Amino acid sequence: MDGGCACGQIRYRLRSPPMFVHCCHCLDCQRQTGSAFVLNALIETDRVEILSGETILFAMPTDSGRPHDVARCPACGTAVWSHYGGLKFLTFARVGTLDEPAALTPDVHIYTRSKLPWMTLPPETPAFEAYYDSKTLWPAESLARRKALFG
Ligand SMILES: [Zn+2]
Ligand SMILES: [Zn+2]
Repeated sequence: MDGGCACGQIRYRLRSPPMFVHCCHCLDCQRQTGSAFVLNALIETDRVEILSGETILFAMPTDSGRPHDVARCPACGTAVWSHYGGLKFLTFARVGTLDEPAALTPDVHIYTRSKLPWMTLPPETPAFEAYYDSKTLWPAESLARRKALFG
């Protein structure tokens, strides 16, 4: 799966399907995207191949005080992915920057407590008021990848 920023300077490739896909309805994601939610594909950073360009990292303020760095194109400012909690080996790739954003669908909806009220969620997808326990939700293969990543 390939993707990129609005101006085309940043081009990247996901070398495999992600481990899991989040649809996050938290207020930070709403503010930082200017939209109702953000779609993040969780994938090992070493499976994100940068085909062209170089991102710059912006440190976002967080309620938890843990770092959240957003990688943006230096020319057009498009956010292509981010790293939460200072974990540079784990990438949250913005699904909307893929060439085919429809290729990935959310595996879970999180922070629905701040979901915009007009937004109706599909009943078949798990949804949580805040965060969730990945051990109970992720498929075994993804959990194995997660374990390999975190050690
Ligand atoms: Zn750009
Ligand atoms: Zn969020």
